[in-house]
Amino acid sequence: MTINKSFNLSGITLHSGKHSNISVNPAPADTGIVFKRNDLKVSHGDTIIKANYQNVIKSDLCTKIANKNNISVSTIEHIMSAFHGMKIDNAIVELDTDEMPILDGSADEYVRGIESVGVKYLSSKKKIIRILRPIISRNNESYIKVQPSEEFQIDYTINYDHQSIKTQQFSFNFDQEIDYKKIISNCRTFGFKHEVDYLREKGLIAGGSFDNAIVLDDHGIMNKNPLRQEKEFVKHKILDFIGDIFLLGSSIKGSFEIYKGGHRLTHDLMKSIMSDDSNWIFEDHAPYNLKLENIDYIEEVSVAI
Ligand SMILES: [Zn+2]
Repeated sequence: MTINKSFNLSGITLHSGKHSNISVNPAPADTGIVFKRNDLKVSHGDTIIKANYQNVIKSDLCTKIANKNNISVSTIEHIMSAFHGMKIDNAIVELDTDEMPILDGSADEYVRGIESVGVKYLSSKKKIIRILRPIISRNNESYIKVQPSEEFQIDYTINYDHQSIKTQQFSFNFDQEIDYKKIISNCRTFGFKHEVDYLREKGLIAGGSFDNAIVLDDHGIMNKNPLRQEKEFVKHKILDFIGDIFLLGSSIKGSFEIYKGGHRLTHDLMKSIMSDDSNWIFEDHAPYNLKLENIDYIEEVSVAI
């Protein structure tokens, strides 16, 4: 599935603090999600970076991918989450710098953009990855466990020594895109003031502000606007996970249990899953039962990249 037509978004980037203009475009079947840097003047094709776990080059503060020419794009996890959540598996994202805009710190504007142009079915059958046996990735006390399942389920627990968060746990059954939209897509990223100050001093979050993150200090939440959802913190971690796991190139059937996860742990898990053919199998995706209003049943779309 792809989008009906292009839409544009722009805004400041979190890490470099630059302005980023993006254009999200339809793509033919089997394109996958690709990013294209329009600010670089190199020969055609060299500025395309495929959204795939094998292209991940950094996963500390965000997810960053690069192609074989070392041309990169960072902070892709929120738009990847919106694509996965809204079941868009083919799209070309053009941008004029090396980082996606942070927007409001959630996937809300991407979801609105997708809804504003509608979606388009493509003729080729969509594949999905089915997990065949339990796999675990661990780093100290943090872990992600996946078990075989008929569905894509995420049970996520975070634990912070802070009165506004403490332990938060949420189970999300990834089925209808309407659930993703209502429960997950508008949950914002968050940070602690002492970390934010440190990262800003180091120049690592030049674009960070109360407009694109929930910031917590010793007394509580510093933002004037209230939380958008109950358990917004853990739900944002689920948002990130849905985006990162889509770097497998397909959606997935498996039951995930995550304790204090993060980008790096998800990337490690994807490598573990794909390292052994007996861990997984491709199967045809069941027909969609979409509840979006704006759906176009056109068979083919042709856009050159
Ligand atoms: Zn995030």
